[in-house]
Amino acid sequence: MTHLECSLCNKTFEAGKAWNLCECGGPLLVRYNLPELRAGWSRESLATGPNSMWRYAPALPPRSAKSIVSLGEGMTPLLSIRRTGARIGSNNLLLKDEGLNPTGSFKARGLSCAISMCVELGVKVLAIPSAGNAASALSAYAAAAGLEAHIYMPSDVPQANFIECKAYGSHVTLVDGLISDCGRIVGERCRETAGTAAPWFDISTLKEPYRIEGKKTMGYEVAEQLHWELPDAIFYPAGGGVGMIGMWKAFAEMEALGWIGGKRPKMIAVQAEGCQPIVRAFEEGAEASRFYEGASTVAAGLRVPKPLGDRLTLKAVRESGGTAIAIPDREIIDAGLRLAAEEGIFAAPEGAACVAAAERLIRERFLTADDRIVLYNTGSGLKYLEAYSVRFPRTSGGAADKLGGLITPR
Ligand SMILES: *Cc1c(COP(=O)(O)O)cnc(C)c1O
Repeated sequence: MTHLECSLCNKTFEAGKAWNLCECGGPLLVRYNLPELRAGWSRESLATGPNSMWRYAPALPPRSAKSIVSLGEGMTPLLSIRRTGARIGSNNLLLKDEGLNPTGSFKARGLSCAISMCVELGVKVLAIPSAGNAASALSAYAAAAGLEAHIYMPSDVPQANFIECKAYGSHVTLVDGLISDCGRIVGERCRETAGTAAPWFDISTLKEPYRIEGKKTMGYEVAEQLHWELPDAIFYPAGGGVGMIGMWKAFAEMEALGWIGGKRPKMIAVQAEGCQPIVRAFEEGAEASRFYEGASTVAAGLRVPKPLGDRLTLKAVRESGGTAIAIPDREIIDAGLRLAAEEGIFAAPEGAACVAAAERLIRERFLTADDRIVLYNTGSGLKYLEAYSVRFPRTSGGAADKLGGLITPR
């Protein structure tokens, strides 16, 4: 790592310090000396590396191996899903199952990297507003590193996330409000504690630069698992868009390292119909998104009404010749249950949305039967029992009643 660079105004920032956003509001991207890396690091050497995302450590920000806080994240399976493929008209459908990560989602990648950097830079107290999986992952990695974590979650957060955070020993505050209210409180507490002996560090999506670096390893992995031949299309459930931005960055880095050529997959941003700021901006030809009013979806990771990384996500989608597509909740749950029954993979609704999106884009001939397609299932269905339980009501008065509109007999 040589320095960081603002993704909007290109201002540079010194490595070896804790940073949040650029003064202009732009998220920071980590830069490396890639020519030097290229001379000393070959893709063949990966064979003897750790069986986790840290096999790509030379292209990750920690300078010392001693800083790394790992629970075995990454190197998730890339599975061929033939029955689902046959049903939706694809001969070449693959699913990268991120539900197998520690804490049941790919948030583990970002937070393993971010917490490792906290250890390296001496940051001791972390805070996050999160409606779910980021809070769980932060809590686990903070526990593994022996750091203090403060979580602010909306009071209607899924049980799994709340209980996980408590179990890992985080300080959890339930807020009667939206994720944006949680974000405001975290921002205030960070300002109040600045300059004290234990300042709080805001580790929110894209407000610190290292979570992108962790998530970019999904791009390195898919290339390695496909023997350095990228697929024709990648379906990614975009909330904050961190994974999409990270993978796009990883492809450019791998090309600079001489590991892949110039071919890129069509990057397809999948959103929920009830919260689709990226889809709307894409369709309008806009460079940035507008705040999506009344955001609502069972795919909690996609409930991000105004993503900070909207420009970078839209850029990746457009430069790749991809598209952006929104799926209604009912179809998301249908797709999740069908995938589970056909393939034995119980996906998060975010991942299930990708199956429905692929089905639609093949039907519309945006993709062909022979295109090699990789779907990202970003989390485990086990984290979303409330969302799925609406199809299997057992008692009255529970989540099933609240989301009653989703119940369809099978
Ligand atoms: C956070 C989350 C997302 C969205 O991730 P981004 O990289 O911020 O777009 C998707 N799926 C799940 C399960 C998540 O937890």
